[in-house]
Amino acid sequence: LLAPHAIYGAGRVNAQGFDLAARDQLDRIFAARDGSIADAGPLTAQAATGQASPVLNPATGDILATVTEADEATVTRAIDAARPWAAPASERAATLRRAADLFEADFGPIFGILSREAGKTLNDAVAELREAVDFLRYYAQQGEGRTDAPRGIIAAISPWNFPLAIFTGQVAAALMAGNAVLAKPAEQTPLIAALAVRLMHRAGVPADALQLLPGDGATVGAALTRDPHINGVVFTGGTDTARLIAASMADHMAPGTPLIAETGGLNAMIVDSTALPEQAVRDIIASSFRSAGQRCSALRCLYVQEDVAPHLIAMIQGAMDQLRVGDPWDLSTDVGPVIDAEAQAGILAYLDQNRDQILHQIAAPATGHFVPPTLIRIDGIQVLEREIFGPVLHVATFKARDLDRVVAAINATGYGLTFGLHSRIDSRVQEVTQAVHAGNLYVNRNQVGATVGSQPFGGEGLSGTGPKAGGPQYLTRLFAPAAPAAAAT
Ligand code: GLU
Repeated sequence: LLAPHAIYGAGRVNAQGFDLAARDQLDRIFAARDGSIADAGPLTAQAATGQASPVLNPATGDILATVTEADEATVTRAIDAARPWAAPASERAATLRRAADLFEADFGPIFGILSREAGKTLNDAVAELREAVDFLRYYAQQGEGRTDAPRGIIAAISPWNFPLAIFTGQVAAALMAGNAVLAKPAEQTPLIAALAVRLMHRAGVPADALQLLPGDGATVGAALTRDPHINGVVFTGGTDTARLIAASMADHMAPGTPLIAETGGLNAMIVDSTALPEQAVRDIIASSFRSAGQRCSALRCLYVQEDVAPHLIAMIQGAMDQLRVGDPWDLSTDVGPVIDAEAQAGILAYLDQNRDQILHQIAAPATGHFVPPTLIRIDGIQVLEREIFGPVLHVATFKARDLDRVVAAINATGYGLTFGLHSRIDSRVQEVTQAVHAGNLYVNRNQVGATVGSQPFGGEGLSGTGPKAGGPQYLTRLFAPAAPAAAAT
């Protein structure tokens, strides 16, 4: 057994398969394209108020829908109305499983909204729905035999890059532990969150146990994370935002109130001269450009051993030329848009600043928020000041005798989310995977798309607090700690 904490080419083991070739399924998917999108204002147990805000399609810039964002008064009323879910754990588990069935049955509208609101390609939308469903069933199974008490009210603050899967994972875990949940979706993606909450309510989750508070971080997020009635916060997003949340919680909440934060990464992959080039290139492309690079797990800095670098980099360029960038709803599209105009402008400015180092770039549509997939030459990961959250891959070369220095530079970033290694030398696999600080290690495969249950996801250092999402410790953090045994008198 090599490095037992690493994952060797595992496939999805617990996902429900969707046969995209089946005609009736395709018909339903395409029917959803022009179907109406449910309105997505706050879904609260008491009256909601707030301002209307547009939701944009990142592929076109068009307004998809208008959503009422919760104001501070709505957040306060939702906190007042929140009631932990008193049903026995077995009933909570059965309800979450019913929700999983409803999610699967509603795949047409779900794919349609994921594509139009979040710019997901159909492949990414399929994977995302599978992951959401896996979270529901996994946490149901993990929690059904437990009799622990809930913590109380949990605030769940989720990102736009997995607006269904991460949203659902946070909510399902907190609910399975019997808590009331106040869910704040990312401001870019309230529509898919509203559909998810409606399906969970339809499955039987009480309206006062799960409320949806769409809005921005400065209003809804800030109000939730400074309210002393909140008994825990689950957050996925940027490292800086996690710091603000932690500071606000420390100022306003009871000592010991848990924060589970999943944050950024500066993820590396090392490819040595024994790697199988075709396999490495396939996995590099998937790790860097799938989801338009908008995954915190995505590969940002590739190290290629000098001896094979010219050949391997030429192959990467050839593989990039095969990528199709465009309408995420088109079945042949590999790379969709980035999430919004601000993200696009930031990444394009970065590419402009580094234009002299660009080794390869492929065309992207001129309208809509697209970024051309780009390969940039760098000396090493130490020159990267921050995570570029888009389809941008940096490549550096190394000499075999410098491998330790490469590993040290990767560790010195302070992040520790994912790491990839392509090598056929067993001893090297063992040494490198032991030495690298990363939550998720991937050997001879791509480094994105962790699988609920078999590959719990989460990092160390600046990348997160743990426990890992989709792993056995996660629920435990959301139950109240066991009372200390009474002292013998
Ligand atoms: N769990 C996802 C993966 O393994 C990444 C989650 C994220 O980007 O926040 O690719």
